[in-house]
Parts: sequence; C-alpha cells; structure tokens
Amino acid sequence: MADAKVTRLRPVRPCPICGKPSTQAFHPFCSARCADIDLNRWLTGAYAIPEEADEESGKQDEGGED
Ligand SMILES: [Zn+2]
Repeated sequence: MADAKVTRLRPVRPCPICGKPSTQAFHPFCSARCADIDLNRWLTGAYAIPEEADEESGKQDEGGED
C-alpha cells in the first residue's frame, strides 16, 4: 500500500447509522459497530420478533449513545 497518487474518485458515502464517513473496511458503514447495529436492525425486522409483552426496560428506539 504505497500508492501516493491515490485520489478520491468517488465521494465517500456517510455511514447510514451515524452519518460519519464510511470506511472501506466496513463499507458502507464507518465501523464494525455500526455494521453490527445495522445487522441487528435488519435481523430484527426480518424475523419480526413476536410481541413478548416485555415492557420492563421501556423503549429502545434509537441508540442515541455518544
Ligand atoms: Zn457509523
């Protein structure tokens, strides 16, 4: 990896999870964490977890963690 003339041919797309610039390693996410978050969301939606009347921890809408 000694390319000195590497230029950005394509615009960096923001991470769909947090909005940070995505990285090649975790494209289209910025990190493994965001990729994991998206995966979980996807799985959750795909499997449509049945309602388990589990209302002890309130809601977990957006992982607004900083
Ligand atoms: Zn991200």
